Amino acid sequence: MIEITGKHLIDGQWVSSTATSFESANPATDGVNPWSFFDASETDANDAVTSANRAFRVYRRKSAAERAEFLNTIAAEIENLGEQLVEAAMSETALPQMRIEGERGRTCGQLRAFANNLLNPISPVFIDHAQPERQPLPKGDSRLTNVPLGPVVVFGASNFPLAFSTAGGDTASALAAGCSVIVKGHPAHPATTELVAHAINRAIEKCNMPSGVFNMVQSTTPQVAQCLVQHPQVKAVGFTGSQKVGDILNKLAQERPVPIPFFGELGSTNPQFVLPQKLASDAQALANNQVASMLMGHGQFCTSPGLVIIQRGEGFDGYMTALGDAISNAPAGTMLTKGIAQTYNSQVDKLSSNPALSIIASGDAGNGGCQSGAIAFSVSASDFIAQPELHEEVFGPCALVVVCDNDEQMNEIALSLSGQLTASVFGTDDELLDYIDLVDDIAQSVGRLMFNQLPTGVEVCHSMQHGGPYPASTAPQTTSVGSQAIHRFTRPLCLQNMPVSIQPEEIKDGSSHPQVIV
Ligand code: NAP
Repeated sequence: MIEITGKHLIDGQWVSSTATSFESANPATDGVNPWSFFDASETDANDAVTSANRAFRVYRRKSAAERAEFLNTIAAEIENLGEQLVEAAMSETALPQMRIEGERGRTCGQLRAFANNLLNPISPVFIDHAQPERQPLPKGDSRLTNVPLGPVVVFGASNFPLAFSTAGGDTASALAAGCSVIVKGHPAHPATTELVAHAINRAIEKCNMPSGVFNMVQSTTPQVAQCLVQHPQVKAVGFTGSQKVGDILNKLAQERPVPIPFFGELGSTNPQFVLPQKLASDAQALANNQVASMLMGHGQFCTSPGLVIIQRGEGFDGYMTALGDAISNAPAGTMLTKGIAQTYNSQVDKLSSNPALSIIASGDAGNGGCQSGAIAFSVSASDFIAQPELHEEVFGPCALVVVCDNDEQMNEIALSLSGQLTASVFGTDDELLDYIDLVDDIAQSVGRLMFNQLPTGVEVCHSMQHGGPYPASTAPQTTSVGSQAIHRFTRPLCLQNMPVSIQPEEIKDGSSHPQVIV
């Protein structure tokens, strides 16, 4: 068993410069867990960055094989935490055991996938050999590779205590890229954060990595988060959370004397477009599957389907009845934090008092504290378009069904969409052809477009895109899931006329790394 220290991990040491602390909350009991955590000061944050910057100068020269071994060792050390990690995460998030175990598997799988990609790279480097005889001017030897950006600040996410937190996708891709990392733990699960940091620290020791390649600070004060983003030695930020905080931090990142990339994954309603023929044939199954997806994680997934766009016609009444029945039977659920429960319940109250909306059905709302219930509303297409606030994410088990009278209204909604992580279109093969303009319009606003599938469940693979136009993400050209996520933390570097003796392995003639040679 690892003893929870409540301290920050800076340069391989467990430290704190303050006496102020905060407690680990237990949303299931609406009480606290038996651990408290030091609230980092700006000194702690600055020390963490200094340590990461020092380590970066060593870590950037580690070979792909050494970085792969490090990532694989982190995965093994996380698994070695055993039940202690699962129990801590359950008590801090109220997520069930199966979900936490699944998320641990995904986290370790992600680390190993990045390790495998380092050992078996697929992205080529480009080589232009010199042409000294070329007329009228000779051509020099130039080779294009990618280099790590430098120290990266990663914000742990409240809704994925493992897969998008301390050793989650952002950290894994930054370490794979050759960057050092400073994690700002999410205050919703500090013990989980500390346990995973212990695992990473063990991997650092076992793999003989520089001690500051990974640092972690815990804090509940915005000043510490802001100080990290503004620190001149920080070269990029990975963030998953609210649009409000993402906007604040992104602004700070862009207003620095030297702006840096801010990879924020913010809000998404994940629209579900149901086409008429499909609705006529599959109304009940569509409604039941929509509710099942929306109830996963009690609606606290970034890909939760919160918006349905549907037309009156055959199947419409059956869909609404089935949706209402499924929602009415939904049990109350515990949300990740009291703050998230309060925000959700107040958003639902606001929607309930909006005269343009009707409640289709609501489930058991629970007994206060961190509990909340599922709910579905309907609204006309014209009111939805007229009220931009209805386009905002409601983080939790809430769906808004937008009822259209015709294809034109459906098209108008597609064109009015803000940026989305995902959207789905449900249609028969024939009607998808007929609605190809609608499909193209939806595609303009999303990072991942699904056909006859719901959006929850994001595969970690080469072809995954988890991002999208703002506000889904602040960098729509990039993904935060899948092998391509590594490119967020590298930049291209052209090396011209570089002597072979100092060339990095991947650009050497005859290297096993994929190369495009001109
Ligand atoms: P959040 O409020 O955006 O907080 C994210 C991180 O930013 C935390 O580490 C937080 O730590 C820090 N922070 C908060 N206020 C800050 C400020 N003014 N300046 C600098 N840093 C600040 O996200 P959350 O706590 O996870 O959940 C709140 C809401 O975010 C949810 O209700 C939901 O709407 C949204 N959310 C969306 C997704 C998604 O995937 N779409 C995921 C998670 C959350 P401190 O609080 O300690 O400062």
